Amino acid sequence: MSRVYNFSAGPAVLPEEVLREAAEEMLDYKGCGMSVMEMSHRSKMFQQIIDEAEQDLRDLMGIPDNYKVLFLQGGASQQFAAVPMNLMKNGKAGYIITGQWAKKAFQEAKKYGQAVELASSADKTFSYIPDCSDLDIPEDADYVYICQNNTIYGTVFKQLPNTKGKELVADVSSCFLSEPIDVTKYGVIYGGVQKNVGPAGVVIAIIREDLIPEEPPVKDTPTMLAWKTQADAGSLYNTPPCYGIYICGKVFKWLKKMGGLAAMKAHNEKKAAILYDFLDQSKMFKGTVRKEDRSLMNVPFVTGDADLDAKFVAEAKKAGFENLKGHRTVGGMRASIYNAMPIEGVEKLVAFMKKFEEENA
Ligand SMILES: *Cc1c(COP(=O)(O)O)cnc(C)c1O
Repeated sequence: MSRVYNFSAGPAVLPEEVLREAAEEMLDYKGCGMSVMEMSHRSKMFQQIIDEAEQDLRDLMGIPDNYKVLFLQGGASQQFAAVPMNLMKNGKAGYIITGQWAKKAFQEAKKYGQAVELASSADKTFSYIPDCSDLDIPEDADYVYICQNNTIYGTVFKQLPNTKGKELVADVSSCFLSEPIDVTKYGVIYGGVQKNVGPAGVVIAIIREDLIPEEPPVKDTPTMLAWKTQADAGSLYNTPPCYGIYICGKVFKWLKKMGGLAAMKAHNEKKAAILYDFLDQSKMFKGTVRKEDRSLMNVPFVTGDADLDAKFVAEAKKAGFENLKGHRTVGGMRASIYNAMPIEGVEKLVAFMKKFEEENA
Protein backbone atom coordinates (compact mmCIF):
# COMPACT_ATOMS: atom_id res chain seq x y z
CA MET A 1 0.00 0.00 0.00
CA SER A 2 1.23 3.47 -0.73
CA ARG A 3 -0.42 6.81 -0.15
CA VAL A 4 0.17 9.95 -2.16
CA TYR A 5 0.35 13.51 -0.89
CA ASN A 6 -3.14 14.66 -1.80
CA PHE A 7 -3.49 18.42 -2.34
CA SER A 8 -7.11 18.20 -3.51
CA ALA A 9 -9.41 21.11 -2.66
CA GLY A 10 -12.19 18.70 -1.82
CA PRO A 11 -13.06 15.98 -1.16
CA ALA A 12 -9.68 16.09 0.44
CA VAL A 13 -7.08 14.44 2.61
CA LEU A 14 -8.24 12.96 5.93
CA PRO A 15 -6.08 11.96 8.89
CA GLU A 16 -4.58 8.54 8.22
CA GLU A 17 -5.23 7.56 11.81
CA VAL A 18 -8.95 8.17 11.33
CA LEU A 19 -9.05 6.07 8.17
CA ARG A 20 -7.23 3.21 9.88
CA GLU A 21 -9.58 3.27 12.83
CA ALA A 22 -12.61 3.30 10.54
CA ALA A 23 -11.13 0.36 8.63
CA GLU A 24 -10.68 -1.60 11.85
CA GLU A 25 -14.27 -0.93 12.85
CA MET A 26 -15.69 -1.55 9.40
CA LEU A 27 -17.16 -5.00 9.92
CA ASP A 28 -17.89 -4.90 13.62
CA TYR A 29 -18.39 -1.57 15.32
CA LYS A 30 -17.55 -1.94 19.00
CA GLY A 31 -18.83 -5.49 19.27
CA CYS A 32 -22.27 -4.87 17.82
CA GLY A 33 -21.55 -7.18 14.90
CA MET A 34 -22.28 -4.69 12.16
CA SER A 35 -20.81 -1.70 10.40
CA VAL A 36 -21.95 1.84 11.23
CA MET A 37 -23.20 1.85 7.62
CA GLU A 38 -25.62 -0.93 8.46
CA MET A 39 -27.10 0.30 11.72
CA SER A 40 -30.40 2.03 12.32
CA HIS A 41 -30.16 5.76 12.79
CA ARG A 42 -32.69 5.23 15.61
CA SER A 43 -30.43 2.80 17.46
CA LYS A 44 -28.78 3.59 20.80
CA MET A 45 -25.43 2.93 19.18
CA PHE A 46 -25.91 5.59 16.54
CA GLN A 47 -27.45 8.07 18.99
CA GLN A 48 -24.25 7.79 20.98
CA ILE A 49 -22.16 8.44 17.85
CA ILE A 50 -24.05 11.62 16.91
CA ASP A 51 -24.27 12.89 20.51
CA GLU A 52 -20.53 12.44 21.01
CA ALA A 53 -19.76 14.09 17.69
CA GLU A 54 -21.85 17.10 18.64
CA GLN A 55 -20.29 17.37 22.10
CA ASP A 56 -16.75 17.09 20.73
CA LEU A 57 -17.49 19.79 18.15
CA ARG A 58 -18.94 22.02 20.88
CA ASP A 59 -15.80 21.50 22.97
CA LEU A 60 -13.45 22.19 20.07
CA MET A 61 -15.16 25.38 18.90
CA GLY A 62 -16.49 26.57 22.24
CA ILE A 63 -20.03 26.65 20.90
CA PRO A 64 -22.35 28.32 23.43
CA ASP A 65 -25.52 26.52 24.58
CA ASN A 66 -27.79 28.94 22.75
CA TYR A 67 -26.51 27.67 19.39
CA LYS A 68 -27.88 24.54 17.72
CA VAL A 69 -25.55 22.19 15.89
CA LEU A 70 -27.19 20.49 12.92
CA PHE A 71 -25.79 17.67 10.81
CA LEU A 72 -27.47 18.02 7.43
CA GLN A 73 -27.32 16.78 3.87
CA GLY A 74 -27.38 18.59 0.54
CA GLY A 75 -23.90 20.05 0.77
CA ALA A 76 -22.99 23.64 1.38
CA SER A 77 -24.88 24.53 -1.80
CA GLN A 78 -28.19 23.53 -0.25
CA GLN A 79 -27.63 26.09 2.50
CA PHE A 80 -27.29 28.78 -0.19
CA ALA A 81 -31.11 28.45 -0.34
CA ALA A 82 -31.80 27.52 3.28
CA VAL A 83 -30.10 30.68 4.59
CA PRO A 84 -32.41 33.17 2.85
CA MET A 85 -35.45 30.91 3.33
CA ASN A 86 -34.98 30.88 7.10
CA LEU A 87 -33.55 34.34 7.66
CA MET A 88 -35.17 36.74 5.19
CA LYS A 89 -37.88 38.16 7.45
CA ASN A 90 -37.59 41.54 5.78
CA GLY A 91 -36.84 39.92 2.47
CA LYS A 92 -33.45 41.59 2.25
CA ALA A 93 -29.79 40.67 2.81
CA GLY A 94 -26.29 41.93 2.01
CA TYR A 95 -23.69 39.76 0.29
CA ILE A 96 -19.94 40.26 0.04
CA ILE A 97 -18.73 38.74 -3.20
CA THR A 98 -15.26 37.29 -2.83
CA GLY A 99 -15.45 34.42 -5.27
CA GLN A 100 -17.54 31.82 -6.97
CA TRP A 101 -19.07 30.30 -3.85
CA ALA A 102 -20.16 33.67 -2.49
CA LYS A 103 -21.55 34.53 -5.90
CA LYS A 104 -23.53 31.32 -6.11
CA ALA A 105 -25.00 31.95 -2.67
CA PHE A 106 -25.84 35.50 -3.72
CA GLN A 107 -27.60 34.37 -6.87
CA GLU A 108 -29.56 31.75 -4.96
CA ALA A 109 -30.67 34.33 -2.37
CA LYS A 110 -32.02 36.52 -5.15
CA LYS A 111 -34.63 33.87 -5.83
CA TYR A 112 -36.17 34.39 -2.42
CA GLY A 113 -35.73 38.06 -1.71
CA GLN A 114 -33.65 41.12 -2.37
CA ALA A 115 -29.98 40.29 -2.18
CA VAL A 116 -27.71 43.33 -2.29
CA GLU A 117 -24.04 43.25 -3.23
CA LEU A 118 -22.20 45.11 -0.46
CA ALA A 119 -18.66 44.71 -1.80
CA SER A 120 -16.81 42.62 -4.34
CA SER A 121 -13.30 41.72 -5.42
CA ALA A 122 -14.36 40.59 -8.90
CA ASP A 123 -12.37 43.48 -10.43
CA LYS A 124 -9.09 41.67 -9.68
CA THR A 125 -10.20 38.06 -10.17
CA PHE A 126 -11.02 37.74 -6.46
CA SER A 127 -7.35 37.95 -5.51
CA TYR A 128 -8.05 40.02 -2.40
CA ILE A 129 -10.64 40.65 0.32
CA PRO A 130 -12.38 44.01 -0.06
CA ASP A 131 -12.36 46.55 2.76
CA CYS A 132 -15.43 45.72 4.84
CA SER A 133 -14.97 48.20 7.67
CA ASP A 134 -17.65 50.63 6.57
CA LEU A 135 -20.10 48.97 4.21
CA ASP A 136 -23.29 50.56 3.01
CA ILE A 137 -25.66 48.05 4.60
CA PRO A 138 -29.41 48.54 4.12
CA GLU A 139 -31.13 49.44 7.39
CA ASP A 140 -33.58 46.55 7.04
CA ALA A 141 -31.13 43.85 5.92
CA ASP A 142 -31.73 40.58 7.74
CA TYR A 143 -28.10 39.50 7.59
CA VAL A 144 -24.69 40.01 6.03
CA TYR A 145 -23.24 37.03 4.20
CA ILE A 146 -19.62 36.05 3.63
CA CYS A 147 -17.70 33.09 2.31
CA GLN A 148 -14.97 33.17 4.91
CA ASN A 149 -12.27 31.22 3.09
CA ASN A 150 -12.38 31.26 -0.69
CA THR A 151 -11.40 27.79 -1.74
CA ILE A 152 -10.85 28.56 -5.41
CA TYR A 153 -8.99 31.87 -5.11
CA GLY A 154 -7.10 31.26 -1.86
CA THR A 155 -8.20 34.30 0.10
CA VAL A 156 -9.50 34.47 3.67
CA PHE A 157 -11.19 37.10 5.82
CA LYS A 158 -8.54 37.74 8.50
CA GLN A 159 -10.94 40.25 9.99
CA LEU A 160 -14.69 39.84 9.97
CA PRO A 161 -16.70 42.57 8.26
CA ASN A 162 -18.27 45.33 10.29
CA THR A 163 -21.90 44.26 9.93
CA LYS A 164 -23.20 47.30 11.84
CA GLY A 165 -25.29 45.14 14.11
CA LYS A 166 -26.67 42.83 11.43
CA GLU A 167 -26.36 39.08 11.82
CA LEU A 168 -23.28 37.58 10.21
CA VAL A 169 -23.73 34.39 8.18
CA ALA A 170 -20.57 32.59 7.08
CA ASP A 171 -19.82 29.71 4.77
CA VAL A 172 -16.71 28.21 6.39
CA SER A 173 -16.52 25.06 4.25
CA SER A 174 -12.82 25.32 3.46
CA CYS A 175 -11.56 26.70 6.79
CA PHE A 176 -13.77 24.71 9.17
CA LEU A 177 -11.80 23.83 12.34
CA SER A 178 -8.54 25.16 10.90
CA GLU A 179 -8.22 27.69 13.74
CA PRO A 180 -10.23 28.92 16.72
CA ILE A 181 -13.10 31.29 15.99
CA ASP A 182 -15.42 33.27 18.25
CA VAL A 183 -18.78 31.67 17.52
CA THR A 184 -20.67 34.50 19.25
CA LYS A 185 -19.66 36.88 16.44
CA TYR A 186 -21.82 34.89 14.02
CA GLY A 187 -25.53 34.23 13.70
CA VAL A 188 -24.97 31.23 11.43
CA ILE A 189 -21.83 29.28 10.58
CA TYR A 190 -22.05 26.44 8.14
CA GLY A 191 -19.84 24.30 5.98
CA GLY A 192 -19.68 21.22 3.85
CA VAL A 193 -17.32 18.87 5.66
CA GLN A 194 -15.57 17.40 2.63
CA LYS A 195 -12.89 20.09 2.60
CA ASN A 196 -11.41 19.94 6.06
CA VAL A 197 -13.51 17.71 8.30
CA GLY A 198 -14.85 14.52 6.79
CA PRO A 199 -16.36 12.70 3.84
CA ALA A 200 -18.70 14.42 1.37
CA GLY A 201 -22.37 14.19 2.22
CA VAL A 202 -22.50 16.09 5.50
CA VAL A 203 -22.94 19.80 6.04
CA ILE A 204 -22.73 21.15 9.56
CA ALA A 205 -24.76 24.23 10.48
CA ILE A 206 -24.24 26.08 13.76
CA ILE A 207 -27.19 28.41 14.26
CA ARG A 208 -28.07 30.74 17.11
CA GLU A 209 -31.38 29.48 18.43
CA ASP A 210 -33.31 32.73 18.12
CA LEU A 211 -32.56 32.76 14.38
CA ILE A 212 -34.40 29.50 13.81
CA PRO A 213 -37.90 30.59 12.87
CA GLU A 214 -41.03 28.72 13.95
CA GLU A 215 -42.19 29.08 10.37
CA PRO A 216 -39.71 30.08 7.63
CA PRO A 217 -40.52 33.56 6.34
CA VAL A 218 -40.21 32.43 2.72
CA LYS A 219 -43.50 30.89 1.70
CA ASP A 220 -43.53 27.20 0.78
CA THR A 221 -40.06 26.51 2.14
CA PRO A 222 -39.67 22.73 1.88
CA THR A 223 -39.93 20.96 5.23
CA MET A 224 -36.40 19.66 4.83
CA LEU A 225 -35.00 23.16 4.38
CA ALA A 226 -36.70 24.66 7.43
CA TRP A 227 -33.95 24.62 10.05
CA LYS A 228 -36.57 24.07 12.75
CA THR A 229 -37.42 20.66 11.31
CA GLN A 230 -33.93 19.33 12.00
CA ALA A 231 -33.34 21.44 15.12
CA ASP A 232 -36.41 19.94 16.80
CA ALA A 233 -35.44 16.44 15.73
CA GLY A 234 -31.77 16.56 16.78
CA SER A 235 -30.77 16.23 13.10
CA LEU A 236 -32.80 13.00 12.94
CA TYR A 237 -35.98 14.16 11.21
CA ASN A 238 -35.12 11.72 8.48
CA THR A 239 -32.17 9.40 7.93
CA PRO A 240 -29.02 11.47 8.34
CA PRO A 241 -25.72 10.76 6.57
CA CYS A 242 -24.84 8.33 9.36
CA TYR A 243 -21.48 7.08 8.18
CA GLY A 244 -20.26 10.59 7.34
CA ILE A 245 -21.24 11.85 10.78
CA TYR A 246 -19.36 8.93 12.34
CA ILE A 247 -16.19 9.85 10.44
CA CYS A 248 -16.58 13.54 11.36
CA GLY A 249 -16.81 12.41 14.99
CA LYS A 250 -13.51 10.58 14.62
CA VAL A 251 -11.89 13.66 13.10
CA PHE A 252 -13.13 15.75 16.06
CA LYS A 253 -11.47 13.30 18.44
CA TRP A 254 -8.29 13.44 16.37
CA LEU A 255 -8.35 17.25 16.57
CA LYS A 256 -8.76 17.11 20.33
CA LYS A 257 -5.80 14.75 20.56
CA MET A 258 -3.74 17.10 18.39
CA GLY A 259 -4.30 19.81 20.99
CA GLY A 260 -7.45 21.48 19.69
CA LEU A 261 -7.90 24.38 17.32
CA ALA A 262 -5.18 26.67 18.73
CA ALA A 263 -2.62 23.92 18.14
CA MET A 264 -4.11 23.27 14.72
CA LYS A 265 -3.75 26.95 13.84
CA ALA A 266 -0.07 26.93 14.81
CA HIS A 267 0.44 23.77 12.75
CA ASN A 268 -1.38 25.29 9.76
CA GLU A 269 0.56 28.56 9.97
CA LYS A 270 3.84 26.72 10.03
CA LYS A 271 2.82 24.61 7.04
CA ALA A 272 1.52 27.50 4.97
CA ALA A 273 4.62 29.59 5.71
CA ILE A 274 6.87 26.92 4.19
CA LEU A 275 5.02 27.23 0.90
CA TYR A 276 4.46 31.00 0.90
CA ASP A 277 8.10 31.70 1.85
CA PHE A 278 9.22 29.61 -1.07
CA LEU A 279 6.80 31.33 -3.47
CA ASP A 280 8.00 34.76 -2.31
CA GLN A 281 11.60 34.06 -3.25
CA SER A 282 11.06 31.87 -6.33
CA LYS A 283 11.80 33.30 -9.77
CA MET A 284 9.52 30.80 -11.47
CA PHE A 285 6.49 30.36 -9.20
CA LYS A 286 4.42 33.08 -7.68
CA GLY A 287 1.38 33.30 -5.45
CA THR A 288 -1.69 34.97 -6.93
CA VAL A 289 -3.22 36.48 -3.77
CA ARG A 290 -2.54 39.79 -2.01
CA LYS A 291 -0.27 38.92 0.91
CA GLU A 292 -2.56 40.21 3.69
CA ASP A 293 -5.41 38.04 2.48
CA ARG A 294 -3.65 34.72 1.98
CA SER A 295 -5.51 31.60 3.06
CA LEU A 296 -3.84 29.04 5.31
CA MET A 297 -5.79 26.31 3.53
CA ASN A 298 -5.73 26.90 -0.24
CA VAL A 299 -2.60 28.22 -1.93
CA PRO A 300 -2.93 29.10 -5.61
CA PHE A 301 0.22 29.81 -7.62
CA VAL A 302 1.34 30.15 -11.22
CA THR A 303 4.47 30.18 -13.34
CA GLY A 304 2.95 32.65 -15.81
CA ASP A 305 3.22 30.10 -18.61
CA ALA A 306 0.31 27.70 -19.13
CA ASP A 307 2.51 25.02 -20.76
CA LEU A 308 4.99 25.14 -17.92
CA ASP A 309 2.11 24.93 -15.42
CA ALA A 310 0.84 21.79 -17.16
CA LYS A 311 4.34 20.26 -17.20
CA PHE A 312 4.71 20.98 -13.51
CA VAL A 313 1.36 19.39 -12.63
CA ALA A 314 2.18 16.29 -14.70
CA GLU A 315 5.66 15.82 -13.21
CA ALA A 316 4.40 16.48 -9.70
CA LYS A 317 1.80 13.77 -10.15
CA LYS A 318 4.48 11.30 -11.22
CA ALA A 319 6.42 12.19 -8.08
CA GLY A 320 3.42 11.43 -5.84
CA PHE A 321 1.92 14.92 -5.41
CA GLU A 322 -1.70 14.66 -6.52
CA ASN A 323 -4.39 17.19 -7.43
CA LEU A 324 -2.22 20.28 -7.79
CA LYS A 325 -4.02 21.56 -10.86
CA GLY A 326 -5.76 24.87 -10.23
CA HIS A 327 -9.54 25.22 -10.44
CA ARG A 328 -10.79 24.90 -14.00
CA THR A 329 -11.92 28.55 -13.98
CA VAL A 330 -8.56 30.02 -12.94
CA GLY A 331 -5.85 27.66 -14.22
CA GLY A 332 -2.36 27.46 -12.75
CA MET A 333 -1.84 25.42 -9.62
CA ARG A 334 -3.44 25.20 -6.22
CA ALA A 335 -2.16 23.33 -3.20
CA SER A 336 -4.86 22.72 -0.62
CA ILE A 337 -3.10 22.09 2.66
CA TYR A 338 -5.90 21.26 5.06
CA ASN A 339 -5.53 20.13 8.69
CA ALA A 340 -4.72 16.54 7.75
CA MET A 341 -1.89 17.43 5.34
CA PRO A 342 1.31 16.63 7.23
CA ILE A 343 4.17 19.16 7.33
CA GLU A 344 6.38 16.67 5.43
CA GLY A 345 3.90 16.83 2.56
CA VAL A 346 4.50 20.56 2.14
CA GLU A 347 8.25 20.30 2.75
CA LYS A 348 8.54 17.64 0.08
CA LEU A 349 6.38 19.61 -2.33
CA VAL A 350 8.62 22.67 -1.89
CA ALA A 351 11.74 20.55 -2.42
CA PHE A 352 10.15 19.24 -5.61
CA MET A 353 9.28 22.77 -6.76
CA LYS A 354 12.88 23.90 -6.17
CA LYS A 355 14.20 21.03 -8.23
CA PHE A 356 11.67 21.72 -11.00
CA GLU A 357 12.68 25.37 -11.02
CA GLU A 358 16.38 24.50 -11.36
CA GLU A 359 15.75 22.00 -14.12
CA ASN A 360 13.46 24.30 -16.10
CA ALA A 361 15.17 27.66 -15.59
C1 LIG B 1 -16.82 23.32 -1.94
C2 LIG B 1 -17.49 24.53 -1.43
C3 LIG B 1 -18.87 24.71 -1.53
C4 LIG B 1 -19.78 23.70 -2.21
O1 LIG B 1 -19.92 22.61 -1.42
P1 LIG B 1 -20.94 21.43 -1.80
O2 LIG B 1 -20.93 20.63 -0.55
O3 LIG B 1 -20.37 20.73 -2.98
O4 LIG B 1 -22.26 22.04 -2.07
C5 LIG B 1 -19.43 25.84 -0.99
N1 LIG B 1 -18.66 26.77 -0.40
C6 LIG B 1 -17.33 26.64 -0.28
C7 LIG B 1 -16.53 27.70 0.38
C8 LIG B 1 -16.70 25.52 -0.80
O5 LIG B 1 -15.37 25.39 -0.70
